[in-house]
Amino acid sequence: MKAAEKMAQERERERRRQTRAMRERQMRKKQLRRRRYRIALCLRAVVALSVLTLALFIVLWGRTQLSKLFSDKTDRQEWDVPGAEGLDTQVNIVSMPDAASNGEGGVSENRSHRQQEGAPLDLSDPLLLLVNKENPLPEDYEVELQVLPSGLVSVAEVLYDDLEDMLADGKKEGLNFVVCSGYRSAERQQELLDEDIRACMNSGMTYEEAYEEVTRMTMPPRCSEHATGLALDIVSLDYQLLDEGQERTAENAWLKENAWRYGFVLRYPRGQESVTGIDYESWHFRYVGKEAAKYMHEEGLLLEEVWQS
Ligand SMILES: [Zn+2]
Repeated sequence: MKAAEKMAQERERERRRQTRAMRERQMRKKQLRRRRYRIALCLRAVVALSVLTLALFIVLWGRTQLSKLFSDKTDRQEWDVPGAEGLDTQVNIVSMPDAASNGEGGVSENRSHRQQEGAPLDLSDPLLLLVNKENPLPEDYEVELQVLPSGLVSVAEVLYDDLEDMLADGKKEGLNFVVCSGYRSAERQQELLDEDIRACMNSGMTYEEAYEEVTRMTMPPRCSEHATGLALDIVSLDYQLLDEGQERTAENAWLKENAWRYGFVLRYPRGQESVTGIDYESWHFRYVGKEAAKYMHEEGLLLEEVWQS
């Protein structure tokens, strides 16, 4: 048992080391992409501004031409004021929203869909416990654990049967899963955090920088969902790294589509980092029970949003 535990920790350490290296590479790529995006945004702003200036110029020019043309025949004031103002307003309406919608239209549309209605879920249900940096695990939290057949990972007893069903149904479709993390004690979480911080500091960061960087992926003790026993990291047997490659496995695709049927939700989806405070993790699933998972799946809600509504 001691040796198996040691082996599991060794394997986990190796996996995290590889994951870290992969994440560093991805970060560099991301920075490059961000820079390109910023340049594109600047270009767009320049184009929008030019169009606006040109439109204004045309309006002003048109106004002078019009007044010149009609000044002989009609009273100049009649044409000058109402005619020109009408044109002015029209230009504003056409060009302003166009420039604005490039940046923000998509986001607000998305948000309004997500926050459609209030949650008819009972938030006192311990399965809906929200644990993150702002909401550490309550001191009096208790959980019944059950060890998985591998002997290496423990999970909350309450989810055991649903997990077993889920993995068995996946297996029927030729998929092979590894539950590589389940319950993690506060001490173990602290160890993981220290290891990651040390690794970052070795590559030249200060403690504060390392802490900031590391806690985007590894939570401080009591702030990790893994302390509840309700969170699982599930990977493909053939690809066990916790990185962006994981979502390209058939196992991960199947889980994302079907986990809600068994009471699990993908906890940290892509593009929701501002809500969850955690980078996208395609492998991290959280048990909330079948009813809540179905509701959250149908409404497209995150656990944070269930608590907000
Ligand atoms: Zn996890």
